[in-house]
Amino acid sequence: MATTEKTATVAVKPGEERLVSIEVVYRGIFQKTLAQRICRGVVLASRRRNYTGTAFARYGDSPERNGVPAKQFAVVAPTDLELEAGMAKYEPAVVDVSVAVDDTLVKGIESWAWYGRQPIWKPVRDNGFVLVTSNSTPDELVQQTDKAERPYTLAVVPGGASFAGLWVYKDDHTDYRVLGALARLLPDWLPIEDVKASIRESTKDEARVVSVQFGYDNVRTREVKKGEGTDAHEKLQFEKPGWTKMREGIIVEARKPGERNPFYKKYTARTLRPVVNFDTCIKCTMCWLDCPDECFEVTPSGHYEVVYEACIGCGICAQVCPVKDCIVMVDELKFTDNTDKFVLYDKQPDAYRQWFTEMTGLPAIGSDKPAATGGD
Ligand code: SF4
Ligand code: SF4
Repeated sequence: MATTEKTATVAVKPGEERLVSIEVVYRGIFQKTLAQRICRGVVLASRRRNYTGTAFARYGDSPERNGVPAKQFAVVAPTDLELEAGMAKYEPAVVDVSVAVDDTLVKGIESWAWYGRQPIWKPVRDNGFVLVTSNSTPDELVQQTDKAERPYTLAVVPGGASFAGLWVYKDDHTDYRVLGALARLLPDWLPIEDVKASIRESTKDEARVVSVQFGYDNVRTREVKKGEGTDAHEKLQFEKPGWTKMREGIIVEARKPGERNPFYKKYTARTLRPVVNFDTCIKCTMCWLDCPDECFEVTPSGHYEVVYEACIGCGICAQVCPVKDCIVMVDELKFTDNTDKFVLYDKQPDAYRQWFTEMTGLPAIGSDKPAATGGD
């Protein structure tokens, strides 16, 4: 049964009641339904306390491109008036919680219209939350998150990234676990009993309620102080241009042959990236021909190296390569920069082979000395 009770709220200043904003950052288009379900779940659960709310998508993300970071929002307020006041702006400039439903998003996300890359915590208020679905620990994720400009809490709800097909939804309860974790972070706004009651009512499925409780019980948190994090990621600072300064839409500016578009940095779309075993490469050109983003460069030795800054991580090169394990797709979180690797192979082949093994967990062929057997 719904209750009219209104207890403590998250406040900008002590005693100031206001709305709560949550954003869900996801991989378009494969996690779109997941993001919708989380935002909708927040609003429905909040209604049990007679709060009012709305869930919506960011207009600039449509049409969505595969793998590119996109956002949806849930905004909840004590009254319609406060909700309307808070919704005066099209998209919340500040959020209480940013939910990333793929942990590679902690490396930073593309802002709208390719104007730079922004840290995952960019819109999170002071002492707000970044909630990530991940099988890594909070300490591991902080090492890949941009250096904090203000304190926040990093929360991790166990589980890998849930990717669905284009027109289907992978119902693996990620949404319920995230809702349980949100209840833990915002107990005054999203009490766990309200979330469970809302899910029970809408699904009539106790297994989903169990998943909510699992998320609530198992979320791990870590306070992140100002200055913690990495500054290894490329600085592509996010500055929204005014409408008079914005580049024209739709137009793709012509480039000289061999020149890549500097505005088209696609690597924030990547969850995996290819690693090439140059020792086993037979120089067949298939990767170079089939890469949809023309990411391969031919080296003087006739090998094909990946330009990581341009690679979107689609995995087509690994699929078309005729040599087993010659191109291996590796978790993006294992990389700290976009440096191309052929120079290392050229100058220090054994060091490259060791790096290949560390990254892929596979033995490198051609080494004079056995390579380390690292890798996760
Ligand atoms: S994963 Fe391979 S095919 Fe896909 S963009 Fe990167 S280099 Fe090109
Ligand atoms: S497809 Fe594989 S074997 Fe062929 S050139 Fe590319 S990396 Fe080498």
